[in-house]
Amino acid sequence: MPLRFFNTYSRKLEDFVARDAASRKIDIYTCGPTVYSRAHIGNFRAYIFEDLLQRHLEARGFKVHRVMNITDVDDKTIRGAREAGVPLVKFTQQFKDAFFEDAELLRIKPADDYPAATDQRYIDKMISMISALISKGLAYQADDKSVYFRINKFPDYGKLAHFNLDELQSTGRVKHDEYDKEHIGDFALWKAQNEEDGDVKWDSPWGPGRPGWHIECSAMATTLLGDQIDIHCGGVDNIFPHHEAEIAQSEGVTGKKFVRYWMHCAHLLVDGQKMSKSLGNFYTIPDVLAKGYTGREIRYALIRVNYRTQLNFTWDGMKEARESLGRIDDWLERLREVAQRENGPSRTDDKRPMEESEFEKSLDDDLNISAALGFLFETIRETNRLMDENKLDENVAAKWLNWWDQINAVLQFQAEEAELPEGVAKLAEARLQARLAKDFRKSDELRDKLNALGWEARDTKDGQKITRRAGA
Ligand SMILES: [Zn+2]
Repeated sequence: MPLRFFNTYSRKLEDFVARDAASRKIDIYTCGPTVYSRAHIGNFRAYIFEDLLQRHLEARGFKVHRVMNITDVDDKTIRGAREAGVPLVKFTQQFKDAFFEDAELLRIKPADDYPAATDQRYIDKMISMISALISKGLAYQADDKSVYFRINKFPDYGKLAHFNLDELQSTGRVKHDEYDKEHIGDFALWKAQNEEDGDVKWDSPWGPGRPGWHIECSAMATTLLGDQIDIHCGGVDNIFPHHEAEIAQSEGVTGKKFVRYWMHCAHLLVDGQKMSKSLGNFYTIPDVLAKGYTGREIRYALIRVNYRTQLNFTWDGMKEARESLGRIDDWLERLREVAQRENGPSRTDDKRPMEESEFEKSLDDDLNISAALGFLFETIRETNRLMDENKLDENVAAKWLNWWDQINAVLQFQAEEAELPEGVAKLAEARLQARLAKDFRKSDELRDKLNALGWEARDTKDGQKITRRAGA
């Protein structure tokens, strides 16, 4: 079965075909955090879905270039800085730092670029895009000096969110407080400076002001990835108006289809309810850590449900995450023990395929992680049973360990390596050096020494791994 994804634009599952099929290079743009407060677990659910997407595409041989923007100027960041009485840059920096700290803890692969909206390079691009839209009649400066996108002039407006302009009037999705606009749905490209903005302003052909949120993403995406990109992701709450506006702006300027596949992650609920500060069910990553959980356990809890399904976060769910990871840890220990055994059974009953397993195939099917994890746990049950009956030979155990390394490159579930005692660390380092010097006799001797101390050295494609020997 080919790789396929649900495209929000067509509302269909579509076979994935990269724009540049020969090179297998693909571009992904992901809307990043607005740095006015610490990101919450709902935000991180979306970022973990995007991480799963990137890692699975890489496992399938694609070369991914991913951009995640940082929104460091908008209404909320400006308000926050004003209330805190500090400059905008200082106010947003603390939340940028917190975001990177949390993302690392959740084992999210860093993007290739993290453009920030306030970078002059992108401000210039936003201004040139807005100028182009005005000259094409797609934007206008209103009496309030702000510049708006003229949605009536863009026939495809509403195609992503699947509603038409008449509905927009009646849904009440847009506040009726901006009287200067031609159409209630026209959105700001450039916001004229007002008193509350303080010194947050840039010069433009339309006077001092600041960009609207939507144009920030269009400018950063097209600057770094070009006029057309393969995949654009975000949470479902980004679909309208943010992504609808991104399409209108980008395609309005370039005349080319902006995005081939739009992918959106469903909401996260907490105890069956929408997360909110007033309900007291609003959690950041440090809030969950404070309850004694680890980054990898949070990752498990947030990744385990298919991205298009609402995920209900509960403390019971965190306990289950811990138990599930414990099952994986125990299984790996057992496999390692069998893999290094010399007088095990000479044949095995395990004939299940490891290459092209149901794990990879499930992820090909619109990232069906529930089915992929189902296959992993079925494998654990089955191989544990064979090990109980002494029917799994060391070669098969070693093969499952290799398979684990492959799927762990996508899942990132493996336990942190325990702190090595000093003597063990020295032997491990000496063995690493021996291998680099291609002195394999010495490296084998050192492996034996480590073994005698109860530690196991394995050589994986990510380098040498030292783990405690099972039963040692
Ligand atoms: Zn965006």
